[in-house]
Amino acid sequence: MKVSFVSSPDFRRHQNGSYESGLYHPEIPDRLDAIENRLHRLGLWDELEIVEPMPATAGQLGSVHDLDYVTYVERACEEGPLSLDYDTGVVRESFLAATLAAGGACQAVDLVMSDAADAVFCAVRPPGHHAERDAAMGFCLFNNVAVAAEHARRAHGLERVAILDWDVHHGNGTQHTFEHDPGVFYLSIHQFPHYPGTGDATERGLGAGEGATLNVPMGAGTGDSEWIAALEGPMTRAIDEFKPEIVLLSAGFDAHAEDPLSSTLVSEAGYRTMTEIVVDWAARHSNCRLVSMLEGGYNLNALARSVETHVSTLRRASGR
Ligand SMILES: [Zn+2]
Repeated sequence: MKVSFVSSPDFRRHQNGSYESGLYHPEIPDRLDAIENRLHRLGLWDELEIVEPMPATAGQLGSVHDLDYVTYVERACEEGPLSLDYDTGVVRESFLAATLAAGGACQAVDLVMSDAADAVFCAVRPPGHHAERDAAMGFCLFNNVAVAAEHARRAHGLERVAILDWDVHHGNGTQHTFEHDPGVFYLSIHQFPHYPGTGDATERGLGAGEGATLNVPMGAGTGDSEWIAALEGPMTRAIDEFKPEIVLLSAGFDAHAEDPLSSTLVSEAGYRTMTEIVVDWAARHSNCRLVSMLEGGYNLNALARSVETHVSTLRRASGR
């Protein structure tokens, strides 16, 4: 079925600078080259509708972030290279890349809402799910998936948005954005305990949002069978109860066995089955509307193979 792919050369212009006192930083432009070169090499690229992103507006960014923080990031980039967090750096071009990442996420929502695409994969950087309302964190500047969720509500009037986050790290920023909000169900599967430290199973949402957060922490050494069982079991039950009108996916691929930033053992075959489960959620509840955003994934080869598997599974499976 029809899969669009958000891509821009400008995502390569963001640089994090040094990592932990000058060591190699894993969140590098080569990640996108590895993904897209593989899609070209295997002929998959030509089967995708390639979408050039537009920058997010101040209104879109301001739906999740304090506008003072947006201005702070813009000024920091102008003055860059600078570090905003111990592992999150910016250069002059980072503001453009970050606004394109969040803007591309909103365009992806527009595409699935207008039926111009069944599913959209956004090959963006910087990633987003650690970004808080007023702080950069964990390689993230703006919370792309959170901005997309707010866009789905504000521009398209949706009342129930689900965000599945299968990045190996808990999406603290996304959870905090919506933990009081019953209209956005945040579901995360992640290695625990691990960076950033949040995501215990007892974190289930707050106030009116109680019950609209589901954390499924996974131990080091868990792999395909445990991760698939979590998606098929408690997460599918939660989705079937919530009945989302759109499914957003924070698709990090750093739970892969070869990834240097985790101790979990997910394989490409695991990501294939996990993709099929999420497509099934979207098919049964959301008129197939599925937007998948790249988050982490730091072994270039494993990342490229995993994204290829994910996108080819979307192409094969997403239908109506
Ligand atoms: Zn991650």
